[in-house]
Amino acid sequence: MTEAPAFPLKLFNSLTRSLEIFEPVHPGVPGDPARPPEARVYSCGPTVYNYPHIGNMRAYVFADTLGRTLSYKGYKLTHVINITDVGHLTDDADAGEDKLEKAAAERARKGEKTAIWDIAKHYTEAYWADVKALNIRQPAHWSIATDYVPAMIAFAKTIADKHCYELEGGLYFDTTTVAHYGSLARSVVDEGESRIDPVDGKRHPADFAIWRKTPAGETRQMEWDSPWGRGAPGWHLECSVMSEALLGFPFDIHTGGIDHREIHHPNEIAQNQAHSCSTDSGARMWMHNNFLVDRSGKMSKSSGEFLRVQLLIDKGYHPLAYRLMCLQAHYRSELEFSWDGLGAALTRLKRLVMAAAPVRDEEPTEATDRRLTDLLAKFDAAMSDDLNTPVALTLLEEAAAMKKIDAGQKAAALAAMDAVLGLDLLTTARADLRVRPKTAAIGEDEIEATLARRKDARAAKDFAASDALRDELIAAGVEVMDGDPLGWDWQPDAN
Ligand code: AMP
Ligand code: ZN
Repeated sequence: MTEAPAFPLKLFNSLTRSLEIFEPVHPGVPGDPARPPEARVYSCGPTVYNYPHIGNMRAYVFADTLGRTLSYKGYKLTHVINITDVGHLTDDADAGEDKLEKAAAERARKGEKTAIWDIAKHYTEAYWADVKALNIRQPAHWSIATDYVPAMIAFAKTIADKHCYELEGGLYFDTTTVAHYGSLARSVVDEGESRIDPVDGKRHPADFAIWRKTPAGETRQMEWDSPWGRGAPGWHLECSVMSEALLGFPFDIHTGGIDHREIHHPNEIAQNQAHSCSTDSGARMWMHNNFLVDRSGKMSKSSGEFLRVQLLIDKGYHPLAYRLMCLQAHYRSELEFSWDGLGAALTRLKRLVMAAAPVRDEEPTEATDRRLTDLLAKFDAAMSDDLNTPVALTLLEEAAAMKKIDAGQKAAALAAMDAVLGLDLLTTARADLRVRPKTAAIGEDEIEATLARRKDARAAKDFAASDALRDELIAAGVEVMDGDPLGWDWQPDAN
């Protein structure tokens, strides 16, 4: 199809704080298609005590864009996303309660006897639904933390003597036993001073639990026997163990949101160094997406109607509009959420889908036309420049808008770009993007029938009847769009 991409892939490594050319740990055998170069990527996954908000999902759109780019650049990708169903406390800095145990206790207080495993299952499935809605590719492995507890205990045993100490509460990691603890973090000094330190006897504020003993007199729904008492693993331990088990040591890229750069990832690195008796952080590159911010405060999971992918759908926005909204910003920039911004992203997506529609059913043929090969080269340069999706999107639009060009070649170019951006341009129809809001009082058939009656009324020059039908639709939450350049007769009035 398209020529082998020519630009070296440059990515920002939070560890060295610089752009680096991606050099795989497993380069394969050049010229042997059976031994391609590999890219092994681990992404910190959700803690399944509640629904993910759309900010969490930005982290997976980013990881997916990275994975798609690595595939596009010819690497055989092995991507792992974990599911944290035990061990993540309400405060990343080693304080508070286990998020899942807390969720179960809250339900029990309300009289709902929900087993913690069912809570984890419910929210894992909800997360997977969001993954699908946002066209995030399935990773090679979803690693479930509770499946790896024996491996976590085995890992902890290897570091316990040299790097850990035991307290009443369990086994703690002494962060001064490894070189340059916390060098990944940006705010390590403040963090050290301001960290809540509720554990008696901790040697240093930054020390963290490797194993947390169930306090005497308490029972947890999730607990295991260990040399340090019955209890549960620390959250940071999970990712060190699962990444090594599934990707080897070291592997290529570890991803997460920027909050993980401060505590979770420095702690993983410390464990990896201790376990490998080296200064190797465990991953060659550590990459972090910036936050999605929402000034209305609706992203907080404690606010009643918080910003979930399902809420966007309920309000009539196709989820891929949110994916496009994420791609409009560079992953290292903060992105501010607004409904207007999402609406604009949906319009942009509609335009793209419409521009691609004429070549949807064409058999792709090699893109040899100079105009297309130039665009594809620029696209490669943009994505190779630390995943510059805002520029890549404009190049996709340029290709989609191209007229008087061989349809098969155009289809091939659009398919190649869309394989990286994941907007499903060639399989989505314009009408698929029109999502009926949950609160809409009227079904699609009824809307079409009312519009047909309105058309007849207008043809008969009965404008009073035509206006009355229009008002009827407006009252039912439907905006009538006469002469819409995008060819929609109506759309849900979401706001
Ligand atoms: P959690 O389930 O809390 O462990 O978070 C899942 C992922 O979402 C992690 O990679 C976080 O760093 C990331 N994350 C959390 N909040 C945001 C946000 N507002 N914007 C982008 N990423 C976020
Ligand atoms: Zn992690």
